[in-house]
Order: sequence, then C-alpha cells, then structure tokens
Amino acid sequence: MDLCEQSPSYVRAIAPYQPGKPISELAREMGLKEKSIIKLASNENPFGVSPRAKAAIRKAIAELERYPDGNAFDLKAALSKRYNVPEECIVVGNGSNDLLEMAAAVFLAPGRSAVYSEHCFAVYPLATQSRGARSIVVPAKTYGHDLDAMLAAIAADARVVFVANPNNPTGTFVPGAELEAFIARVPRQVAVVVDEAYTEYLPPELRYDSVAWLKKYSNLILTRTFSKVYGLAGLRVGFGFMQPDVAELLNRVRQPFNVNSLALAAATAALSDTKFVAKSTRMNRAGMAVLERAFKRLGLEIIPSCANFITFRVPRAAAVYEKLLRQGVIVRPLGGYRMPEHLRVTVGTPKENRRFLEALAAALD
Ligand SMILES: *Cc1c(COP(=O)(O)O)cnc(C)c1O
Repeated sequence: MDLCEQSPSYVRAIAPYQPGKPISELAREMGLKEKSIIKLASNENPFGVSPRAKAAIRKAIAELERYPDGNAFDLKAALSKRYNVPEECIVVGNGSNDLLEMAAAVFLAPGRSAVYSEHCFAVYPLATQSRGARSIVVPAKTYGHDLDAMLAAIAADARVVFVANPNNPTGTFVPGAELEAFIARVPRQVAVVVDEAYTEYLPPELRYDSVAWLKKYSNLILTRTFSKVYGLAGLRVGFGFMQPDVAELLNRVRQPFNVNSLALAAATAALSDTKFVAKSTRMNRAGMAVLERAFKRLGLEIIPSCANFITFRVPRAAAVYEKLLRQGVIVRPLGGYRMPEHLRVTVGTPKENRRFLEALAAALD
C-alpha cells in the first residue's frame, strides 16, 4: 500500500501555492548577479524595513534562546491602543496567512463550504481544501468581488466567506459602505473574513472604519498584516480582530508559539513608525501614477488598483514574463489565478519602476 494514497483525497487534490520567484533562484538560473535583479512580484515594501523595527530586532537577538511570548502581550497591547480594540479580541499569526488558516481550521470541515470570488487570493482555496471543505467560487464582476452574487451563493453548509479588500491579485476595491451592507446581510452562522492586507495603502478618501463594525457583526473577522506596508514579509506577522469567543477558538488551533520573538519585537516597533508608513504610502501613490501613465502610453489595459501593485493585460503574457526575467526583472504571472493574459507588478522605488518600464518596453518590441 502506498503511503501517499493514505492521505485524504482532498489533500492530494491541492494545487501547491506558487510564490513569486525569489531573487536568488533567478540569479542561479540565469547566471545573473543578485544585485542586478529587481523583484516586483510579491507586493513587498520596496523601501525596506522601518529603522525602528530593525533596532528592535537587534535588541531581541540577545534573547533568542528563550521561547517567544506565546500570548504576544506587548504586540497586542500596542495593537489594542492603536485600534481601540480590547486585547481579548486580537489574535496574532505567523503572517496573516496563519489567521486565514486558523479561521478555516475553526469553521471548516468535510461537509461544509467556503465562499470566495474568482481571482481571489490563492490562500483561500488552499485553506478551504486543506480542511476538506467545498469551495464555492463566485464569478468576478470586472475582476472584483460581486458581493450580491457572493451573498446569493452562501449555501446552507457554508461557514466562511472570504473577502479581500483591496483584492489581490486584481487591486480592485469595494467601498466601505457596500462592504458593510454585505456583511450585514450574511447569516450570523457564517464567518465573514475580511482580509485587509493592503488597507494602509488606501487613499484617505477611500478609507473606512471596519474596526467599528466588530461591535455590530458578531461573525466578522478582520485580518491585517505586517508583510506589506510595514515591510516585514520575511518575519511573518499578521493579526486579526474578532469577537472574544471567536478569538478563543482561533487560539485553540493556533500553534502555541506561532509568532517568533524577532517578529513580535519588530512588529511592535514597526507599528509606532508612522513616518515610515506615511513615506511608503506616499511613494506608492506616486509610483502608481508613473506606472499608470506608462501603461497608457504603451497601450496596455490595466485594472485600476487601490493597493501597492497593478495588474495589466498584455498579449502573450507568458513570453513577456520570460523576457522580463531574462532582463533581471521579476513580476508575477497570473495563470494560476485564471488570468493567463495578465501580469501583476508591484510598485517599486522610482528607480525600480524606471527599470521595469524599460525592460517592459524592450520585452514588447
Ligand atoms: C500579501 C497578502 C496577505 C498577507 O500575507 P502574510 O501571510 O501576512 O504575509 C494576505 N492577504 C492578501 C490578499 C495578500 O495579498
């Protein structure tokens, strides 16, 4: 008997996550110098890590022989103060990916289903499938969430609905009022996981106070991350806000020491570095405008984005992706997201944006 066949069929059916190509891998494959490569494939912060976070990491290195604080006391206290959310409503994760997995572990199982949109973040299908639950995939509306259709798709066995706002990989955005109207109509026995990984990048006029909704909707789970605007993707820290009883369930399935001590220290410090966040969002908006203008000049159709990346449609996208790689520029192909004619590029530093646009022009020639 083959051991692998003993694995549940729903595990064997999982298609592995395809990450953005690491710089070191491309350097090996193409014989390029790592320094000559730019990676705009994973929506990382091109401005690096907050100086405050770096200092906190240096300090935390002195105590690496100790287990981390499994209750994340300092980070939760800082988050509680910043967002005015009681500590017992906060769960921290090894990236927000961990929170998405925890929500699935708590609410999904064989015989249950999760609802999410076409072109959604790849982790929703992964988290759903790994629990043996059924996926209800709702066709997108102009690449974004069709909330009315998602509401209608909530089956009797559904226990989770995932909504990313802004969405990745499309950058589409649902106004706060529409999102709240949706949440208000979802049956209370279905967890609404609102994934706000890019929320800090929203321009002031699009911001909405989802944290205030926690008091109204007992089934709401908000997830956020330190991987994007806070520049800590490599350390893996995310957090979620929810009712205390829901938090208590997530904590039961959480690994006791899921967030490491360097990550805890860095995240706590990064949260207070409002200057770094402000610079990152300001530069992102300027870079986005540069890219949008350039795509227009090149005659390429874009999906207007509210995040730190932009998805564009290009003839023979797979070949263009390869040509960019050969020039040392890594973007993200979206075949795995059922968008084989699109590529996604993260807004980089001004220099990286220029290099990307030169390489793209050459690739289109
Ligand atoms: C990047 C991203 C995350 C964050 O993942 P982490 O595990 O926190 O690094 C979550 N959701 C979406 C939609 C993302 O694009």
